[in-house]
Amino acid sequence: MRTLSSAGYANLIVRDRGELDLCHQQAVQDFFASERPEYVFLAAAKVGGIQANFQYPAEFIYENVMIEANVIHASYQSAVKKLLFLGSSCIYPRACAQPIKEEYLLTGALEVTNEPYAIAKIAGITMCQAYNRQYGTSFISCMPTNIYGIHDNFNVHTSHVLPALLLKIHNAKGAGAEQVVVWGTGKPYREFLYVDDLADACLFLMNKYSGNEIINIGTGQDLMIADLVCIIKEIVGYEGQIVYDVSKPDGTLRKQLNVEKLHKLGWSAATSLAEGIQKTYDWCLKTGIFE
Ligand code: GDP
Repeated sequence: MRTLSSAGYANLIVRDRGELDLCHQQAVQDFFASERPEYVFLAAAKVGGIQANFQYPAEFIYENVMIEANVIHASYQSAVKKLLFLGSSCIYPRACAQPIKEEYLLTGALEVTNEPYAIAKIAGITMCQAYNRQYGTSFISCMPTNIYGIHDNFNVHTSHVLPALLLKIHNAKGAGAEQVVVWGTGKPYREFLYVDDLADACLFLMNKYSGNEIINIGTGQDLMIADLVCIIKEIVGYEGQIVYDVSKPDGTLRKQLNVEKLHKLGWSAATSLAEGIQKTYDWCLKTGIFE
């Protein structure tokens, strides 16, 4: 919304979850029939970190399949000019070569910790491609790496690693705690993209790209969770110890995206990781999300 508004798009059609339940087929069809949107960014999804995926596997597959089926089908029925579907880097096989090229999709077994979510997202990609083939629609799919930034979910039980660690380390500093617990071994690598960069890439692709091939969106750089912890400690100003809770899962060891396709199209990420974390932390302090 911020990106579209600041780029001058004034006719934005928005519904929040309370106004339109995307799992409800009739409600979605009525919405598309009456509002007739021309361009659709399908960012709505049931998302969460490694623990949420483990605890609520049924919700992750059900809600995502329903949202995708309802929105993609209604977009076709109401002759939407173009739809951009957001997938995820977890759609790729657990053990694939790094950095991950788009063509590795469906070449091997998935990471078990988020398989229901990944399968729902793969269904969304295949739907877009099938509708393009059978109905001549223009539905494109992009695969963002791990996203973070302002307006994220900062609930330590359900969030992804970056917001969880930012909050945990901030709280430890405030309480004068001697240590912070980080899940897993700290050895997995993850790639992080700032939310505004993702929005910018989506707008770029909506304007510049058409086709059935999926497109990765990332920075092309990853780092170890243990190194992410060091950056967050420095930004927050915390000097205590880090303890690794190896009873918690690591998930996949690496999922660095190959972003050559996106670079060739003419887009690359603008925000460095330290800059993005600083912006996120400043926002958390300013809005009072963190005390
Ligand atoms: P993933 O990228 O789908 O595996 O999801 P996450 O962002 O939840 O987790 C990424 C990695 O960070 C995993 O190896 C987690 O075990 C690790 N991690 C370390 N501490 C935390 C934490 O406090 N919360 C979360 N969600 N992950 C953590």
